[in-house]
Amino acid sequence: MSDGARPALSVVVPVFNEARSLADLHHRLALTLKELGRPYEIIFVDDGSRDGSADALRALRAQDTLVKVIRFNRNYGQHAAVLAGMERAKGEIVVTLDADLQNPPEEIPRLLAALTDGVDVVAGWRVNRRDPWPRRAASWLVNRLTSAIVGVHLRDYGCMLRAYRRPVVDQIVACQGVSQFIPALAASFATSMAEVPVIHMKREHGRSRYGFFRLLRLNFDLLTGFSLLPIQVVSLVGIAVSVLGLGFALFLGLRRLLVGPEVEGVFTLFAILFFFVGLQILALGLIGEYVGRIYQEVRRRPRYMISEVLE
Ligand code: UDP
Ligand code: MG
Repeated sequence: MSDGARPALSVVVPVFNEARSLADLHHRLALTLKELGRPYEIIFVDDGSRDGSADALRALRAQDTLVKVIRFNRNYGQHAAVLAGMERAKGEIVVTLDADLQNPPEEIPRLLAALTDGVDVVAGWRVNRRDPWPRRAASWLVNRLTSAIVGVHLRDYGCMLRAYRRPVVDQIVACQGVSQFIPALAASFATSMAEVPVIHMKREHGRSRYGFFRLLRLNFDLLTGFSLLPIQVVSLVGIAVSVLGLGFALFLGLRRLLVGPEVEGVFTLFAILFFFVGLQILALGLIGEYVGRIYQEVRRRPRYMISEVLE
């Protein structure tokens, strides 16, 4: 491929402390892509790794000119990394792939085969997912939430083995908002999506880079980044609670007239009070989440900082 020509295919790989799988990944990926027989580029985005991934990537870049490397100055998260890769990807089709080899690169041709005329996005769907149950439970929640919020039902929103056509990529990249959950963005822009079952392997090296809090934040991002639904639910609950409270007061008043004052019930009242207080705190938190997002939006801080680009 001569310089400046547009590759047909860009593969974007986010990397966070994956030094041990990179060489193997590159080998298998390059083999698969060569067999496809179209011009391609591989873009590795180093999301602030501290384990020698940077050196491994430099070595790959030195041996293969189709490899491009973008390095963040620190860790910004998988979706920021994929976004950075998409911003620089030149391909008519962009494929995203995890670096940990849980999604075999050999599945890419099947994704591309499903990207028929009229389909903009093909999403992998991990059959027999080989992850510990807490990770799977979190994904179940993400799937439910995303499907409900975006209004597009997918079996597996978490699978990052995906293929996108250029118009969808351009739209995703143009989204300057703080929300970055790429599968949800893609689902909201795609005219037509397809889902393809893909193999899922156990993680060979290390553990998932998603801890509990990272997942929690992703869920908050989803909830508040894509809709006003949570805050509307809070308002509805508020109304329901006031109506219930009113009914309860009415009941207590009647009871007082008919049976006499109630003293032992003090603790019941406390329980009810705590329930209401909890709801209020939740509501405050949600409002805070939205305000925080508005704040981040008006600050217009860049989503990430790049410290090095090798291309
Ligand atoms: N990743 C990243 N930045 C992060 C966390 C993860 O670039 O902050 C990358 C990671 O290197 C891998 C991919 O995102 O290539 C998926 O991460 P992981 O395998 O830990 O997630 P899981 O398979 O549990 O969804
Ligand atoms: Mg993984």
